[in-house]
Amino acid sequence: MLMLGFIARSALAELKVVASTSDLASIAKYIGGDKISVKYIVDGRSDAHFVEVLPNYMVMVSRADVYLKVGLGLDFWAQLIIDGSRNSKIQIVDCSQGIEVLGKPSGQVNASMGDVHAEGNPHYQLDPADGLIMARNIEAGLVEADPANTAAYEAGLKSFEDQLNSKLAQWQKEAEPLKGLQIITFHESWPYFSRAFGIEIVGFIEPKPGIEPTASHTAEIIDMIKIRGIKIIGKEPYFSNKAPNVIARETGARVVDLPQMVGGSPGTDTYFALFDTLLARLNAAAGSNP
Ligand SMILES: [Zn+2]
Repeated sequence: MLMLGFIARSALAELKVVASTSDLASIAKYIGGDKISVKYIVDGRSDAHFVEVLPNYMVMVSRADVYLKVGLGLDFWAQLIIDGSRNSKIQIVDCSQGIEVLGKPSGQVNASMGDVHAEGNPHYQLDPADGLIMARNIEAGLVEADPANTAAYEAGLKSFEDQLNSKLAQWQKEAEPLKGLQIITFHESWPYFSRAFGIEIVGFIEPKPGIEPTASHTAEIIDMIKIRGIKIIGKEPYFSNKAPNVIARETGARVVDLPQMVGGSPGTDTYFALFDTLLARLNAAAGSNP
């Protein structure tokens, strides 16, 4: 049995992939199929900006072949996990390569202000067109780590792209009644989603990304909702209901749970299902019938 150690890994075992987020893991699984095993650190039930670096994550990464990062500062904690894993052979893929970054700060950003989007908005997975760029980055990483299975990864990417294109047509149709819909959200998770589907995000419950709501900012949001007649307050699942409920009570707008990553709520088990659910919930909340 000792000989097995000398046979190319890819002929025998799955390529072990660890991803920072459930979104990257979901896309990787479409591409790698049974050639890979995928684990992830954080899913849509928690805030990917703030992840506690646990020893078991380092153990997980110490046994992995490929690490998939979101980049743009979202998963800055990934480097601590990778360093802690002491796995010098791991292939690191920054999935933000080639993404057109929105919300890049124009002037100096004062990090002491706590803005967690100092490198631009990192929630690019919410434009399905970016999903294809992510998939291409992931496929290139898998091929580099495991060239013996290049044909399988190429086929996986092609199949992902075909499915994405057919879903895109469906989603654009579903988003049709939502074009120009103005909503408030808790966190600035949505500029890429807004670009893709034409929904307008006009304000945030957080005064700045990563900063807790304040009384004065909440009062401003209440005024804005009243003036503009906004009906929907979108809330990512892991934020407290407290401020959204206060705003809803004062304005009559409705709080709608909007998962921004895979696994954030029921019906978001895959990257494709995430968009199905988001568009269905927004249509239901807006009272539109696509
Ligand atoms: Zn953010």
